[in-house]
Amino acid sequence: MEPCEVPENHIHLLLCPAMDYLWTPWRYAYVTSAEKTPGCIFCQVLEAGDDEKVRIAYRGKHCFVILNTYPYTPGHAMIVPYEHLDELQKLPAEAAHEMMGLSQKMEGVLRQLYHPDGVNLGMNIGKAAGAGVAGHIHMHVLPRWVADANFVSVIGETRMLPETLEVTWKRIKDALST
Ligand SMILES: [Zn+2]
Repeated sequence: MEPCEVPENHIHLLLCPAMDYLWTPWRYAYVTSAEKTPGCIFCQVLEAGDDEKVRIAYRGKHCFVILNTYPYTPGHAMIVPYEHLDELQKLPAEAAHEMMGLSQKMEGVLRQLYHPDGVNLGMNIGKAAGAGVAGHIHMHVLPRWVADANFVSVIGETRMLPETLEVTWKRIKDALST
């Protein structure tokens, strides 16, 4: 696949109202698959037995790093505790510590690989807050560029992904393991 081709499973992004997508990017993460899949998607991918297929880029002691299937920008990843918890305050201190450590590491990896102007880091806890997977807390981390929002506004409701998930997975996995 050519780097600028939009994969078939991302076609729906072309239909997303761009401004809504811009201001509430988290809402679109996993919304589609979460509604179609019974149970918890994060718990399921852990047991899939194929980290490349489900885009798990790193497995730590308490948390793992997985790419967002519907990235807001290239490199959009999530840091997720193994434990199925619906509130951050329930996360044991050691796991919370690793989650923040991996957030720092991911910030570094994204800066190194994508040279962004900024980085978004954040959590939406609960459906009302915009969480796509409401039952299992996760930290989003994604690179941002000064022009990325303007670019989308200019071209209307189209989003282009300049890199396939396969390529992103390999690059982030390699960077996290060094
Ligand atoms: Zn879960």
